[in-house]
Parts: sequence; C-alpha cells; structure tokens
Amino acid sequence: MNPTLVVESVHKSFGNIQAVNGVSFSIAAGECVGILGPNGAGKSTLLNICLGVQRHLSGSIKLLGMEMPQQSLAARARIGIVPQKDMLDPDFTCAENLSVYAGYFGLSVSAEKIAELLDFAGLSERNKTAIGNLSGGMQRRLALARALINDPEMIFLDEPTTGLDPQARHLIWERLRNLQESGKTLLLTTHFMEEAERLCDRIIVMDDGRVVAEGSPAQLVETHVEPEVVEVHGVGAKEWLDANAAIAGRRENFGRLSYCHLQDAAPLLAALRDLPYRFVHRRSNMEDVFLRLTGRGLRE
Ligand code: ADP
Ligand code: MG
Repeated sequence: MNPTLVVESVHKSFGNIQAVNGVSFSIAAGECVGILGPNGAGKSTLLNICLGVQRHLSGSIKLLGMEMPQQSLAARARIGIVPQKDMLDPDFTCAENLSVYAGYFGLSVSAEKIAELLDFAGLSERNKTAIGNLSGGMQRRLALARALINDPEMIFLDEPTTGLDPQARHLIWERLRNLQESGKTLLLTTHFMEEAERLCDRIIVMDDGRVVAEGSPAQLVETHVEPEVVEVHGVGAKEWLDANAAIAGRRENFGRLSYCHLQDAAPLLAALRDLPYRFVHRRSNMEDVFLRLTGRGLRE
C-alpha cells in the first residue's frame, strides 16, 4: 500500500533562518507519528508545508497520493487539521463553530453529525455555549471535533495538549487513541515526551530544522541511551562521582544534579546507600533520549 504521506528533502527558510533543512520521512496508513522537538525546531513550519498552507523552497510532498501544494485543495478535503492556535470563532457557539467550519468545505452538515461531534468532544451539554466561556481544554476538544467534520483519513495536530492541565490532556489522549483505533492516520507535533511515548507508533525527533532521530519510542531509548539512570544530588556528590568514575557511568551534570547513565546501576546504588547524597534510580525514557540529542540549553 502507498504511504499516506511522503516528505522528501524539504527545505524552507525565512530570511536567513533555515526553518526546515532537508527533512524526509513517510507515514503509512493507520500509523500515529509524533514530531518531537524543542521550540523553534521547525515542527509547525513542516506541518504547514505538508498541508500546503506554506510553500517550501525545494523538495517534494505527496499527501494521499497528491502533490502538495499544487493539489492542496483536493487533499484538504480528505484531511483534518488541529492548528497550534485553535482559531475558533469567538462570536459563535460550539455548534455554530462546527457548522460554519463545515461551510468552508462546502459541506452542509446535519444536526445529527454536529451532535455526534459534540458528543465526541464531551461538549454535548455545551452546544449553545459561546467559545469565550469554554476552558482551554474544552476549546482544544472542540478544535479536534471540528477537524473531524469531513470524516478525514488523516489528521494533523500541532501541539494538541500544550497549555492544558493533566485531566484535560488525558481526555485528549483518550480521544486520539479512539481515532487511532478507528483506523485514522495521525501526525502530531509535541514537546511532551510522555505524549509522544504514549500515543505514537513512531517518533521523529527534530532540532534546528533537521531530523536528528527516528524510530519507535523503545527503539529510540535502546539506540541512544543506556538502559538505566541514577540521578544524584547533593553538596560534594559531583566530586565523589568524579573520584568513582568507574561505577558512575556516562555522566551529564546540570547544576548540582548529576545524571549517571548506566548499563547496570547495581554497583553505584550499592555505594550510594552509605553516602549522604539524595538519589533516584529509574529506567531511561524518551526524555533522556531527547535531552541527549537536543542538549540541555534553553530555547527561544
Ligand atoms: P516549532 O513549531 O518547532 O516551535 P517553527 O516551525 O514555528 O518551530 O519555527 C522554526 C523557525 O522558523 C524558528 O526559528 C522561527 O522563529 C522561524 N519562523 C517560523 N515562522 C516564521 C515566519 N513566518 N517568519 C519568520 N520566521 C519564522
Ligand atoms: Mg510550533
């Protein structure tokens, strides 16, 4: 079967900023792929290019077999978009927002369909509520429902849960899993490791406009970091680890905290038991991969 999305050697710059710098990947039908990257990595620009909303300078994009942006009108009829900013119309109610949006597609949408989408969003009781009176989580769910108005084959989501509290985030995750189970292809951007790890079959890590790693969450952890981490904190801990480098593993220091990345943490744990430092032992996760690949420096 042909992939749903094929991106080849795509470049895009704004003035002298290389926002997307030679990115290639493809997504199979039914897959859920996450683009993970720090702020300014080029995630939104890449998504907008895939959607034909922004033009790329070179490279090629095929979405559902159609050349982008040349055939973006036809392609967009078969996809759903949850943009980084919801862009819901504040003058309208929930139900009106859905019907007005359907109008952009030239779809006339039945009252049942609107009720079904509001139900999916958990907003049935709010159909007559104005957008301004919805919480951030409700607005995000409405934006997700709106993206489903044309029963899309593939859905693009730009940071679907940024700014939401944990309850609201879990609700969105649950909805996204339902969509996955119903066979939809999903491409989402996020800077939440946990989100990427929980939802995605495959993760593409981006930094500075490039793909720096790609694979399933488990593959990425296995390839890029040691299996165990001991985080050690306390006055003198760093010096003690320096003196005991043979059992301290590969170390990353961040202020007074040392991350010891280890194949086997047992010898270090045994030694730490009799010392006054605070320590936490855990398995490596996507966050360790992400920080190793993109560094610990702050971004824009
Ligand atoms: P992300 O979504 O990963 O945070 P973006 O795709 O928004 O990253 O941005 C990538 C880079 O391109 C950043 O350096 C950003 O400042 C720059 N950029 C994005 N959009 C524009 C624009 N319209 N004009 C100028 N620079 C832009
Ligand atoms: Mg963005």
